[in-house]
Amino acid sequence: MTQISENPYFKLFSKQKENQYKVAQTTYNQRIKKLNALQRAIEITYREQIKDALFKDLGKPKVESELSEVYQIIGDIKYIKRHLHRWTRKQKVRTPLSMLGSSSYYIYEPKGVCLIISPWNFPFNLTFGPLISAIAAGNTAIIKPSEMTPNSSALMATIIKHIFDEEEVALVEGEVETSTELLKLPFNHIFFTGSPNVGKIVMTAAAKHLASVTLELGGKSPTIIDKTANIKQATKKVVWGKFLNAGQICVSPDYILVDERVKSEFIDSCKQWIEHFYSKEPQQSNSYARIVTPKHFKRLKSHLDNAQTLNAKIVVGGKYDESNKYISPTIVTDLKEEASLLNEEIFGPIMPIVSYETIDNAIDYINSKERPLALYVYSKKKLFINKVIKNTRAGGTCINNNVIHYANHNLPFGGTNNSGIGKSHGFFGFKAFSNERAVVKQHFFGAAEFLFPPYTSFKEKLAK
Ligand code: NAD
Repeated sequence: MTQISENPYFKLFSKQKENQYKVAQTTYNQRIKKLNALQRAIEITYREQIKDALFKDLGKPKVESELSEVYQIIGDIKYIKRHLHRWTRKQKVRTPLSMLGSSSYYIYEPKGVCLIISPWNFPFNLTFGPLISAIAAGNTAIIKPSEMTPNSSALMATIIKHIFDEEEVALVEGEVETSTELLKLPFNHIFFTGSPNVGKIVMTAAAKHLASVTLELGGKSPTIIDKTANIKQATKKVVWGKFLNAGQICVSPDYILVDERVKSEFIDSCKQWIEHFYSKEPQQSNSYARIVTPKHFKRLKSHLDNAQTLNAKIVVGGKYDESNKYISPTIVTDLKEEASLLNEEIFGPIMPIVSYETIDNAIDYINSKERPLALYVYSKKKLFINKVIKNTRAGGTCINNNVIHYANHNLPFGGTNNSGIGKSHGFFGFKAFSNERAVVKQHFFGAAEFLFPPYTSFKEKLAK
């Protein structure tokens, strides 16, 4: 068995371990200063370079990069700066009469040395998002971004080096082996964003040290379309949510459950919006992203091949260009239950449609699968919407919209079971990186005197 001191990241980890109490004792103002430095770097110094890196890695349209990466991170920082003072204060609570003579409060203290492992689909947002929470809570952090987006990872390394000493925040670039080595170290908290399968590996590694974890995972997020839904408005949102970043979004509507009475109207309307958003030739559109790597392209192409082998119908799109990692916005119907598109997270621009006869059928279908990160429902009927929400479980839900719950800093973001453990964003992100430490302060002798032996009456004790 190799010694922990032989781990390639042991030295870095040890430096942060030693430095953690100094970082933990930073004042509110000192933490704000660090957040300001990060904000300046993203908002001003590196803004154009961020968009260039994202274009190189993902072909991400610049407006999309502004909205979903730059703007989102800056929004996160501003929100935290507005509330941090309140969160870092003593949180006073009532003390029961039986503890007369004492007062009680709890504080959010930093967890310590944290590991942040992030994915490739929103490389900046999903790396800096948790980092902002870690800094706000007073932690040190080692970051391991995804190897799939090398331009973004290299730029993030530059930004981190520009702002932080490595004994406070360090970024380590590398592949799976790098994560594997890092996961052997006894971090106090691990914040992982990625697939459920790797989430299980992370949780197993964390268990060895009883490190706490936040797991932001993925899965198949369903969308339910009721017959009363405003189809034109619903499809506008579904098409936007599904094909944004070429479907490579954790909260993307993975598959559609549509009332069979409005199925053809739904498909026709989706077709119109696809043309409207991306033209008849989406490959030429400046608003449409590419698949991240040839490997991911092949995975998506094999979904389409599998569907066709099982006689499914491609009713929209289905075009691709391997040399350009391009797959057109695609809609597939008539899928057999064993089709891979209905069993694996798609994470790409392919939208399977399944029709249902009754809402009970749709709910049973959802509950027969793993619990999703998001569930979307489109309907004009309150009863219908409530029935769906009460009879299913999901990390988050939008009613008559999709994806946008991610952008509200006041809401907890995360999954449940297979789609994640723990929450992030705003206060919930700060909490993920904090330990709630309970404090009772004894001021003077009180009813607690009952506790001490000998167990005679209170009257007798007072007499002594
Ligand atoms: P991934 O799980 O393959 O990789 C995520 C990170 O883990 C990367 O940094 C990678 O290097 C590392 N990693 C990969 N295999 C590993 C292993 N065996 N041991 C240790 N580390 C390993 O995920 P991905 O392909 O980068 O991202 C797509 C997945 O992430 C999808 O499932 C998506 O739904 C999910 N996701 C979730 C959220 C969320 O906030 N809940 C956001 C984005 C993506």
